[in-house]
Amino acid sequence: MLHPRHLRNSGALLKMLLGLSLCFGQEPNYSEQRQQMVELQLQGRDIYDNNTLGAMRTVPRHLFVPKAQRAYAYADGPLPIGHRQTISQPYIVAFMTQVLRLKKRDRVLEVGTGSGYQAAVLGKLVDSVFTIEIVEPLGLEAKKRLHYLGYPNVVVKIGDGYHGWEEKAPFDGIMVTAGAETLPQPLVEQLAEGGRMIIPLGPHNGIRQLVLVQKRKGKIKTTELMPVRFVPFTREH
Ligand code: SAH
Repeated sequence: MLHPRHLRNSGALLKMLLGLSLCFGQEPNYSEQRQQMVELQLQGRDIYDNNTLGAMRTVPRHLFVPKAQRAYAYADGPLPIGHRQTISQPYIVAFMTQVLRLKKRDRVLEVGTGSGYQAAVLGKLVDSVFTIEIVEPLGLEAKKRLHYLGYPNVVVKIGDGYHGWEEKAPFDGIMVTAGAETLPQPLVEQLAEGGRMIIPLGPHNGIRQLVLVQKRKGKIKTTELMPVRFVPFTREH
């Protein structure tokens, strides 16, 4: 509320006018919000990989969320993107990206395109990203958005990511962004020698673990990294 007392000097009046113009006219400064997100939510925690930080500083997250969510795009949490799905919290996006230890020439598979935001972040780091979405309208929208925003190295496919993407395998990195009950075997097979996969695993309706899967000399090693909540991995019937 504004009390007449606040209007006694022109400084207060100027401030009020500035506030009004911010409310009704100009766009908020998303770029500044994004830099703050990186500083406080990522560097302020345990994200140190410069490539990951650089990608998170650049990709315009507010253009990947529905208009009604835009004001919250850089907040420290997940957001709804329709079809009962969510875009992950920025920190989780960064953590899962960092853990893959990607190199420029790597080929990466993402399962669960959603808004396309995570795929865009990956697309800043590596030459080729392949991403699969099971909910057709989400996949089509993400495809359009990635094209429009300029990510020619990210390829979107509609389908059940359980089967991976045989023709494009093997992958140096695989990221699953929906919570699965068990490790999909085709994804393990499509992981390259020396490759890394990150996947939330555990019972539906419960806390899952982010699990790192590494393939070395054909052997699989799994490591639990942290407890997380994720929308469920679904299957085509
Ligand atoms: N990475 C996304 C958010 C993922 S939410 C982003 O950056 O916005 C998880 C997504 O996984 C949802 O869109 C959901 O529809 C999708 N999904 C669930 N099971 C899947 C499956 N078997 N294959 C492909 N996508 C799946």
